[in-house]
Amino acid sequence: MTPEETKAFEDELYNFVGNSVHGGPRKGHDDVNAAMIRQWCEIMGDANPAYIDAEWAAKSTRGHTIAPPAMMYAWTQEGYKVASVGRPESDGQARLVRFLASKGFTGSLGTNVDQEYFADAKIGDSIFEDSIIESISEQKTTGRGVGYFFETFAKFTNQDGTLLGTQRFRVFQFIPPAQAEAEAPADSGLEVPTRIQAPRGQDNKWWWDACDEGKVLIQRCKSCQVLRHPPRPMCGECQSTEWDSIESTLDGEVFSFVEMHHPRVPGYQYPLIVAVIELAEGTRIVANVVGCDVADVHIGMKIKGQVDQVDEKTMLPQFYPIAS
Ligand SMILES: [Zn+2]
Repeated sequence: MTPEETKAFEDELYNFVGNSVHGGPRKGHDDVNAAMIRQWCEIMGDANPAYIDAEWAAKSTRGHTIAPPAMMYAWTQEGYKVASVGRPESDGQARLVRFLASKGFTGSLGTNVDQEYFADAKIGDSIFEDSIIESISEQKTTGRGVGYFFETFAKFTNQDGTLLGTQRFRVFQFIPPAQAEAEAPADSGLEVPTRIQAPRGQDNKWWWDACDEGKVLIQRCKSCQVLRHPPRPMCGECQSTEWDSIESTLDGEVFSFVEMHHPRVPGYQYPLIVAVIELAEGTRIVANVVGCDVADVHIGMKIKGQVDQVDEKTMLPQFYPIAS
């Protein structure tokens, strides 16, 4: 786009600020109910009796079970149908995304979500969500590409109008690099993006540092010898915080796998197989299976790993089929 075209585009773009996301407040399909709470807690591994134990909760200060506050957004989700047929024309966020896509900003990355909680939801409550497009940034250049951040701001209330909580959701809508390269002149200096780098903290930096040197280490409890991966500070078996590590031979087999179709994240080669791999040492690791036809990947497939340089910045174990 020329500077004049960009200016005209942005004038129109910023008109979306303040628009309703759903064309007004939206009521959740189902009122707050024990079944959804139980399933959510099961998936999240949350055993707080305030959510799932009616007997316990009856004796609590509230006198009844409550919904986990983090479920707030779950009550008003559109569900699978909208994901498959697309959002309606009344949906302000869908109109914004379509407008950006019309100018090539087709990549979409949710970058932040912040929730604040003010009141409990209890069984039988109806949940209403009222969302607006709160802000749109100026054009930004990031590691993912050139694009715009937009933020939606949602208020969640119950049937009495009590504010239960708020949520800010930030999305980066960008021109995917493959497309940018196709459109940019060869000497534009546009770089091939690297993969998103894993954050390295005090509990896992040692693992990534070894990976950079071509080794895959598995953490081992010094007290009970149980192996664990990914790295974490405490043994799940005996609660010891003393540990050392062993080097994996990277012999293993496919325990489970998926083929990633959508969304296509920059920096990865497709088709992309993401597998849970049962290592010979007896622990599991998530990694890519490469070097074979996607159709040939199967559960129980014998594989052997090696640490490869997968892009300019990233060393990662990848697993290859063992020729039978
Ligand atoms: Zn232990």
